[in-house]
Amino acid sequence: MTAEIIDGKAHAAALRERVAAGVAAFREQAGRVPGLAVVLVGEDAASQVYVRSKGVATEGAGMTSFSHRLPADASEEVLLALVARLNADPAVDGILIQLPLPPQINEARVIAAISPDKDVDGFSAINVGRLAIGEPGFVPCTPLGCVMLLEDRLGDLSGLDAVVIGRSNIVGKPMAMLLLQRNCTVTVAHSRTRNLSAIVRGADIVVAAVGRAGFVRGDWLKSGATVIDVGINRVAAGEGRTRLVGDVAFEEAGQVAGAITPVPGGVGPMTIAVLMRNALVAAHRNASLPVPAGL
Ligand code: NAD
Repeated sequence: MTAEIIDGKAHAAALRERVAAGVAAFREQAGRVPGLAVVLVGEDAASQVYVRSKGVATEGAGMTSFSHRLPADASEEVLLALVARLNADPAVDGILIQLPLPPQINEARVIAAISPDKDVDGFSAINVGRLAIGEPGFVPCTPLGCVMLLEDRLGDLSGLDAVVIGRSNIVGKPMAMLLLQRNCTVTVAHSRTRNLSAIVRGADIVVAAVGRAGFVRGDWLKSGATVIDVGINRVAAGEGRTRLVGDVAFEEAGQVAGAITPVPGGVGPMTIAVLMRNALVAAHRNASLPVPAGL
């Protein structure tokens, strides 16, 4: 392994510290603490874990966490009524609807119902549009965390060739937009892309968000490239055990890349830290206070 390992845990801890300091300063100025509401519909085990960790992180940052649980058979009408109440509640700065939602509920309609100024996940069409035209809004947490890691290592990204593998609304597309905004020359690759290895070989920055274990091979990479591995894949580790791996063949890539994020411990820890950052930004905007620099 010759590549530098990008320590996502350390970066996330530093961001959480900045957020906690920002929350304390906000309390002084606004006379209240930021509030983040998390809504879980149903009993999905993975979603329960995510919701719990978001609540813990919110309180750890000194913000108020509001937890709302609806039964798995809750109607869309009931969920929309809850969203309307949260939109109107001045103590709530950010609203998170844990996805996926049960089949009787139309996800797009629910996301569209969240006030764009409380949509701290950045999933609504308004915030996607704001990102596309370069207006302040909310950017999905995972790609924003990836950009923070890239800028920390590379500084100004202007003129660099970047390949984003994956075009989901949550990761690939906003990632491409963020890199474009920072003056990278961006290629978005996806399941129909031809000659992917040749495209990746030209890239200074490779972001893999595919959902396939070890998909990006070491010999695809340009020497010295910075590799951000968003993938989270559970694979068999023998004796009935499993382990998490990314979308990049880590050992191979580490012989060629200049720097690489590990899985776990790379992009993952950044995601929740950025969510806290977005909630603090929302609180400032909702209180008509300037957003502190360096968040
Ligand atoms: P997705 O399934 O919505 O999208 C996968 C993308 O990969 C698609 O756009 C598809 O076109 C592309 N793809 C599939 N096969 C391909 C191929 N052979 N060649 C090139 N592209 C191909 O997934 P997603 O929600 O974007 O997530 C991607 C991965 O990132 C998953 O492993 C997910 O678990 C992980 N993830 C991690 C975090 C985090 O916090 N670290 C957050 C979100 C997602």
